[in-house]
Amino acid sequence: MNRLLVTFAAPLLFCCCSPAFAQPTDAAGWFEQGRQALEAARARTPNNGKARNVILFVGDGMGVSTVTAARILEGQQRQVDGEGNRLSFETLPYLAHSVTASANQQTSDSAPTATAMVTGIKANDGALSVTQAVGRNEPSAEVIAQQSVTSILEQAEQRGMATGLVSTARVTHATPAANYAHIGNRDWEGNAALPAGATVKDIARQLLEFPHGDGVDVVLGGGRSFFLPEQSQDPEYPEHSGKRTDGRDLTQEWLAQPGARYVWNRSQFDALDTSAAGPVLGLFEPSHMKFEADRAGDGAGEPSLAEMTRTAIELLQRNENGYYLMVEAGRIDHAHHAGNAYRALTDTIALSEAVAVARELSSAEDTLIIVTADHSHVFTQAGYPMRGNPILGLAATEAGPMKDALGLPYTTLGYANGPGFAADGDRHEFTGEEGQYRAAEFSGDKARPDLSAVATTAPDYVQESAVPMLSETHAGEDVAIYASGPKAHYFAGTLEQNVIYHIMAEALELR
Ligand SMILES: [Zn+2]
Repeated sequence: MNRLLVTFAAPLLFCCCSPAFAQPTDAAGWFEQGRQALEAARARTPNNGKARNVILFVGDGMGVSTVTAARILEGQQRQVDGEGNRLSFETLPYLAHSVTASANQQTSDSAPTATAMVTGIKANDGALSVTQAVGRNEPSAEVIAQQSVTSILEQAEQRGMATGLVSTARVTHATPAANYAHIGNRDWEGNAALPAGATVKDIARQLLEFPHGDGVDVVLGGGRSFFLPEQSQDPEYPEHSGKRTDGRDLTQEWLAQPGARYVWNRSQFDALDTSAAGPVLGLFEPSHMKFEADRAGDGAGEPSLAEMTRTAIELLQRNENGYYLMVEAGRIDHAHHAGNAYRALTDTIALSEAVAVARELSSAEDTLIIVTADHSHVFTQAGYPMRGNPILGLAATEAGPMKDALGLPYTTLGYANGPGFAADGDRHEFTGEEGQYRAAEFSGDKARPDLSAVATTAPDYVQESAVPMLSETHAGEDVAIYASGPKAHYFAGTLEQNVIYHIMAEALELR
């Protein structure tokens, strides 16, 4: 048997863009593909050097089923073999499982999981970078100070490194906030949310009054309203005003720093001179930025996650002491909560593009890149569809859609719970922004809809769920950690999520 019949373009294995693995067409091809993976494993040498830079990518809610479905969708969009396709971060050489349970919950939210990744300890649900001794509604700044745990970003600042935070969610949302804020309640993003008499500072204010090093150097994302006073109109949506009731305009306070810049729309972002010194704040929406699927329709324009990642790295790499950058694809989670696989997967593909940019702009010699999720979602890929079947479509073979026990077709993708529980297929429609999930007309009629004539591949289609819930939930199973660069080989086996911090600190030789 000639095992060289099928040739592979080996350089593709190391390409930053999503590689297209040609689907083998016979046994010799599959065997050769497996053998080449063995060759790659043989050639792999651990990098025991010191990391100059660390880039931590977090796909919020990006469980393993999300990665698999996104890899297939991305391949199918490019008309290559989806099942054999790999997202950019799936070609990183090292992998581990991350156990995401928090100090007090089996299934976690994004606050203790981000805390685990950036401080090295596990905390309670809702808590940002404080110990589990802190209650969710702890109002005392003194108690919070006593129970605060230093984050990797704070340590990097103390050492004179450059630091940056990029997110498609609000920059005061749990994942970015755990890097700079210490608080019992992740929802205290602006001062108006604080209980009367509380002395702890709100999250946006903690970013502005950050006491380590020269402050966070680059902050790009959403969440303008927690920086603007209620007296001021939003620049993009004049009908909206700021949410601060203390009269402070934190964007103006940011600009008081030497060389500081503040941008809030696409053209200002594009005009940023990344060779100039001074901190950069970009806030592109009053709340979260748009889903990638909706970004082109934004009035003032928004940069993509990949574009923000590029700008952040260009700004941070000017520092000769290296940099720490956290990049969050923050809205994979929100699309899943809405039961809308299309937006969750297209935001995952946007994360893949951002990781490709980071790999292009950095070297695996001196930069530790980690790509992981904070927690999973109850999202599943089911049935026995044939290879190449549209991932957003009905589970089908060459004979047509497969049928359930009632004789009805079903989609490959679905949720264990969420808003997609309804007897009427017409109701399966995405309604947009967070918190506006359909007040589902969940009836007692539990028959499934007949999807024969429903466009399940349409962007607004909401996949079915087994249990009716207005907001689909997180899931408790492990998520993956992908890594390359110095000490990346320490990512092996099943690790508690807080080990991520310890490996980053070890790679940077922080202690
Ligand atoms: Zn969530």
